[in-house]
Amino acid sequence: MLNIVIFGAPGSGKGTQSARLVEKYGLNHISTGDVLRAEIKNGTELGKTAKGYIDNGQLIPDALMIDILASVFDSFKDSKGVIFDGFPRTIAQADALKAMLAERNQEVSVMLDLEVPEDELMVRLIKRGQESGRADDNEETIKKRLAVYHNQTAPLIDWYKKDGKYSYIKGVGTMDGIFADICAVIDKL
Ligand code: ATP
Ligand code: MG
Repeated sequence: MLNIVIFGAPGSGKGTQSARLVEKYGLNHISTGDVLRAEIKNGTELGKTAKGYIDNGQLIPDALMIDILASVFDSFKDSKGVIFDGFPRTIAQADALKAMLAERNQEVSVMLDLEVPEDELMVRLIKRGQESGRADDNEETIKKRLAVYHNQTAPLIDWYKKDGKYSYIKGVGTMDGIFADICAVIDKL
């Protein structure tokens, strides 16, 4: 299996590039953000819990996210591989992902770090908020999410470097150009 962690700050383009990867390589896609937004939309208990955290720019507790992740992963049958988009976001989640995959005789093939400068992220997210109306894409919440990214998520860069899975991707440029850079990394695996 080709198990890809697509990583980057909020607004770095994880969702956009994931959609292209799904199409080109026939992979399954887990976007934890999309899973949570669907739960909120459906008014489930999980959705109600998640909404409080998301609207405040905070992360959902690790134990909850890890359970969700494993159940979505196990729902894929005869998968060629999975794109993990928005997970892991903490060291505890990275440890859990590694353990979960190992239990299934799998591992992460590569972690792709889409790097985008903060001023560009801000512009993209505010624009997305205006167009899509995503409740967490407002200036105040974006600032909180970027702080959470720096404090809790960015340490995963070193974690994946130590694990030998890290790959830098310049996340600024045309969508096609960025996708070509990503494919070049995957095709070398
Ligand atoms: P991008 O724009 O690159 O797709 P994003 O940060 O804007 O990234 P999502 O990945 O959709 O958006 O996540 C939205 C929110 O859902 C997060 O701010 C967080 O509250 C919650 N969330 C998503 N994934 C996780 C996770 N792995 N652990 C904890 N909370 C999560
Ligand atoms: Mg997303």
